[in-house]
Amino acid sequence: MTDTPAADLKPSFRSEVTVELVKHTAGDSDVLWAARVSTAGEQSLEELQKDPERSRGLINYLMRDRHGSPFEHNSMTFFISAPIFVFREFMRHRVGWSYNEESGRYRELQPVFYVPGADRKLVQQGRPGKYEFVEGTEAQQELTNRAMEDSYRQAYEAYQEMLAAGVAREVARAVLPVGLFSSMYATCNARSLMHFLGLRTQHEQATVPSFPQREIEMVGEKMEEHWAKLMPLTYAAFNANGRVAP
Ligand SMILES: Cc1cc2nc3c(=O)[nH]c(=O)nc-3n(C[C@H](O)[C@H](O)[C@H](O)COP(=O)(O)OP(=O)(O)OC[C@H]3O[C@@H](n4cnc5c(N)ncnc54)[C@H](O)[C@@H]3O)c2cc1C
Repeated sequence: MTDTPAADLKPSFRSEVTVELVKHTAGDSDVLWAARVSTAGEQSLEELQKDPERSRGLINYLMRDRHGSPFEHNSMTFFISAPIFVFREFMRHRVGWSYNEESGRYRELQPVFYVPGADRKLVQQGRPGKYEFVEGTEAQQELTNRAMEDSYRQAYEAYQEMLAAGVAREVARAVLPVGLFSSMYATCNARSLMHFLGLRTQHEQATVPSFPQREIEMVGEKMEEHWAKLMPLTYAAFNANGRVAP
């Protein structure tokens, strides 16, 4: 921890979010184990894995009939780096999630800011609940990048000026925008992750479509990629049953 502001820090601009799977105890066998304890008591893992078709069928049945609790006996911890506006949406997910985010009180915030990538559709058309997004013109893209970068630079300069004058970090940070990158640990289980993915991603197999902001969807897609490898049978059943959390 330092009290000396790093006055030479130059703002940098990023369009990508990152998601790292830090640790996990998560596998399809956790679901099977939990489900079968209700009928067969404790069984060995070996016993559970003997008949893959039966396992697939049981997981699909649990998903289809919304027997959700067997999907809770596992854990995944992600380290996520994304803009603050993404975390504001993220932390609305209260059930089955634990969060710890970097502090703007205990450390000086680094000048890394979000700008939309070239493939981020800029223009919203339609009415609430029926929006679609289309490409911006070149002029709109140029304006967006310029306006954001100018505004970020100005805000960070004001932050630095206050720190240099001895103002506390927790006071000075008020001038920083929600496009500032932050980082957090987020821990969940497969059931809470499925609920999140059902709301925060768009997918052709979703029977209840959602319309998430693209940037939180980018985080969701990366988490989904990790999870799909850990629990392939559960993942397949989630998709086959319309991506509705059990
Ligand atoms: C596309 C989209 C647009 C959104 N727009 C807005 C917006 O404009 N403004 C806004 O404020 N929010 C908005 N949200 C956030 C949304 O309202 C939810 O807060 C967020 O999606 C988390 O969902 P959740 O409450 O189901 O999840 P969790 O908090 O994880 O809860 C999981 C489930 O637990 C149960 N549960 C949790 N808490 C309670 C409770 N207190 N009482 C009863 N049951 C409970 C519910 O069944 C809930 O579905 C938006 C979300 C999406 C996906």
